[in-house]
Amino acid sequence: MDAALQILQTTFGYSSFRGSQAQIIEQVAGGRDALVLMPTGGGKSLCYQIPAMLRPGTGLVVSPLIALMKDQVDALLQVGVRAAFLNSSLSAPQAREVEQQLLAGELELLYVAPERLLMPGMLALLERVEVALFAIDEAHCVSRWGHDFRPEYLQLGVLAERFPQVPRIALTATADALTRQEMVAQLRLHKASQFVSSFDRPNIRYTVVPKQNAKQQFLDFYTDHHQGDAGIVYCLSRKRVEETAEWLKKRGISALPYHAGLDARTRERHQERFLREDGLVMVATIAFGMGIDKPDVRFVAHLELPKSLEGYYQETGRAGRDGLPADAFMTYGLQDVVMQRQFIQDSSGSPEFKRLEGARLEKLLGYCESTQCRRQLLLAYFGEASGPCGNCDACLAPAATYDATVPAQKLLSTVVRTRERFGAGHLLDILLGKLTPKVTQNGHQTLSTFGIGTELDLKQWRSLVRQMVASGHLNSDSESFGAIKLTPKSAAILKGQERLELRQDVGLKRERRKKQAAAATGGEVSEPFFEALRELRGRLAREQNVPAYVIFHDSTLREMATAKPRSLEALGKISGVGRTKLERFGREFLEVILRHAGDAPEQRPLTPDDSDTFEATLALILEGHSPDEVAQKRNLKLSTVEQHLAELIARGKLTVEEVLGLGVDELEEIETAYTSLSPDDQGRLRPLFDKLGGRYSYGVLRCVLAGIDG
Ligand code: ADP
Ligand code: ZN
Repeated sequence: MDAALQILQTTFGYSSFRGSQAQIIEQVAGGRDALVLMPTGGGKSLCYQIPAMLRPGTGLVVSPLIALMKDQVDALLQVGVRAAFLNSSLSAPQAREVEQQLLAGELELLYVAPERLLMPGMLALLERVEVALFAIDEAHCVSRWGHDFRPEYLQLGVLAERFPQVPRIALTATADALTRQEMVAQLRLHKASQFVSSFDRPNIRYTVVPKQNAKQQFLDFYTDHHQGDAGIVYCLSRKRVEETAEWLKKRGISALPYHAGLDARTRERHQERFLREDGLVMVATIAFGMGIDKPDVRFVAHLELPKSLEGYYQETGRAGRDGLPADAFMTYGLQDVVMQRQFIQDSSGSPEFKRLEGARLEKLLGYCESTQCRRQLLLAYFGEASGPCGNCDACLAPAATYDATVPAQKLLSTVVRTRERFGAGHLLDILLGKLTPKVTQNGHQTLSTFGIGTELDLKQWRSLVRQMVASGHLNSDSESFGAIKLTPKSAAILKGQERLELRQDVGLKRERRKKQAAAATGGEVSEPFFEALRELRGRLAREQNVPAYVIFHDSTLREMATAKPRSLEALGKISGVGRTKLERFGREFLEVILRHAGDAPEQRPLTPDDSDTFEATLALILEGHSPDEVAQKRNLKLSTVEQHLAELIARGKLTVEEVLGLGVDELEEIETAYTSLSPDDQGRLRPLFDKLGGRYSYGVLRCVLAGIDG
């Protein structure tokens, strides 16, 4: 397989094959069929691109995603592979020109839409040229039961008859066994070897948090970990998409909406911008995403419950295709459970369908409520055994559980005593002994359960209700306005025959985590340096009208910034820098690297364990310098110094008074404003900032909060 490896290294600039790429390439280059199941980001493209280059003739790639063909072809042209596409976006003369290239044997790869390929004229044309292979991408589109079904895909079986000598490779990221059987049958892949990779995406960190105010929780997550990163936010309805995108825009985030209700032009424009520009946040329904192969999507957030675990896995799989750390973040609450159950109830499907959908939903809820490793659960769902992963919220901050039997009994007995007629809010008022008008009107202060629930606070009670509804120990009946009702599972708890163990939802204090991207490449990367590389990449991308990642991926830029190659030869050794790109862009990138490589004190992103830099700041402050002076002396941004200070205060090494030089009055003003905030808003900077009318900078407030928190 020397020839394949050589192409990998010289053309694509990668040092070695991943997973089963080498075997797949050998199989297809040898003229045999293959079925490839690989998770998103696994590296499917090379599995047909390299065999197409190794075999005589043109490799035909069938893809349903017209909008993305151009980018794929551009990426190939950038590395010096002769490629083109044929679809309805081309004018007649343009299409004719591509056909001429095909006839003249000038193309190594040709991307076509399935309906185009199946036109009689096209098939006849292909019979006149040498076809190296057929690659059928997104092959799960043959499945009539899947959500991506494309009728034209059913006819692709015809290729087996018309081109019996040409190897065919079908690829997909959809895992389940049934779909796999359908692909083999419909595409008539007789003796195809099946290559099934692990579906694990180790670089994605899964987190599920109890929902309080989903938009604000997302904003916190974004500000803490992903400021300026590209990502996708999924919502269920068009309305919610619009609303969320607006809300984020008002807070200064470049967010775009995407849903089936927007006209095709707008959708296309938004998708295009998302692919091309750096750092856009796409707020979308699940109409968005299939085939989006933007490698640097740093997070996928679900503000509402996805449809199923399959759907969730596909959607979250769009994060981190470049292998760098990425986040899958979900907020999840009682309302989600109620709504999804309702959807299924109200659907016009058969009882059997409802039962299946119900079972799917239960799996998903099990995932959300679990205290076990999330990845382990996901992989188990797809039939893969694994151990705890160390990179999900359950592994990183294991949730404590508690024996909730007694509080659950109290709640259930309140439900019984109020004859299953009231919603959760009222029931909790009774348990907590609140004399609301509704309580007194109904005489509920005389119930024996009135005021007996003070062992939990309101938040904990809410969490208990949610968990009991999710696990089916209670039912929230939307027919009667969310009245909480008993279920067949309730009795065992009431009678004390079954214990109930529930998770202790952690308070929603914001945890600080170092920005992950820096961790991936081992060393820390100086941000201005990385930004300079990004800027150059951006300019080149604009000049050539291609997405930035087509020039170089983030991972490649990061490696440049850490390895600091000082010659073209050394630059060529960086992963992702092949021969053609080295010739085209090498000189310009090298100039930027040389300019920055010599820079003395480097500005590095802050990490919590970055003790040296904290100590240096601490020393200067103790010598009596102001934060401004420290910033100047250390050649850091003021905001960075303020971050150091907040951290030092949180660690008890400095007091707020020592640092900020604020008067007692001023400190008191901030603290009063802080205590007047709702508990949800405490610990967040923005509400405090607004409350104080913007008179204190975020940096100052951060320091004061650090003092209060500690
Ligand atoms: P998929 O189609 O399976 O989602 P891609 O083919 O788009 O994945 O590959 C995902 C990313 O991984 C791409 O950026 C690609 O350049 C990169 N990649 C693929 N194979 C290798 C390899 N052997 N070494 C390094 N990077 C690779
Ligand atoms: Zn885990």
